[in-house]
Amino acid sequence: MLKINNLHKSYKMGDSSLHVLKGIDLHVDKGEMVAIMGSSGSGKSTLLNIIGILDELDSGEYTLDDIEIKDLTEKKAAQYRNKFLGFVFQSFNLINFKNALENVALPLYYQGQKRKERQEKAMFHLEKVGLSDWSTHLPNELSGGQKQRVAIARALAAEPKLLLADEPTGALDSATSHEIMQFLQQLNDEGKTILIVTHEEDISLMCKRIVRLKDGVIMEDKKIKQNRL
Ligand code: ADP
Ligand code: MG
Repeated sequence: MLKINNLHKSYKMGDSSLHVLKGIDLHVDKGEMVAIMGSSGSGKSTLLNIIGILDELDSGEYTLDDIEIKDLTEKKAAQYRNKFLGFVFQSFNLINFKNALENVALPLYYQGQKRKERQEKAMFHLEKVGLSDWSTHLPNELSGGQKQRVAIARALAAEPKLLLADEPTGALDSATSHEIMQFLQQLNDEGKTILIVTHEEDISLMCKRIVRLKDGVIMEDKKIKQNRL
């Protein structure tokens, strides 16, 4: 589903430049659940942002679902993002003045779906994350774990083929982190392909494969027996 070959990425910093990703090779098949591990600054988010078509690579090849991701117009990039990808972030990124249901429905609005259809689908996905009773609540009335569930429901609403999560448990206590990971495991059991960036060992052990980044290079890439709670 995802193939990256010899990917390089640098950031320009005035006159100098910072070489962040130095020849990444990564292939991910449908149904995998992969942890991208590494210490802060190792290039995890940069890699995930390129995979998410939020940022561009400098050189190398990236194909997603057999489509080459290269020199896309902003419009095409947005189309592919909407069609293939769901995003979950550490800081939830919910819209504060919209309730849980409206937050989940938002990507469907951008897909041009009708109001009734949006509401129904959003409710279905809120139910799936166990929050149907919280649909009219605003983000600031929800706990961290509940906010992340809403964010996951929003990411799933558009039925993406690939779910990308950047430190999804980074702002949560460890019990809530494990709950969120259990839920992601359940989604993966149902067939969803998931990539999770984390710097936490226990979180990575709940995935099926660990890719370890160090200074922009993959140091290790191994399948593991997934920890289940
Ligand atoms: P991680 O997610 O593993 O902590 P990042 O991918 O965010 O690492 O960052 C890798 C390196 O690239 C860091 O040194 C960071 O400061 C730098 N970096 C990230 N984004 C940018 C940017 N937009 N401009 C310049 N430097 C950046
Ligand atoms: Mg990061």
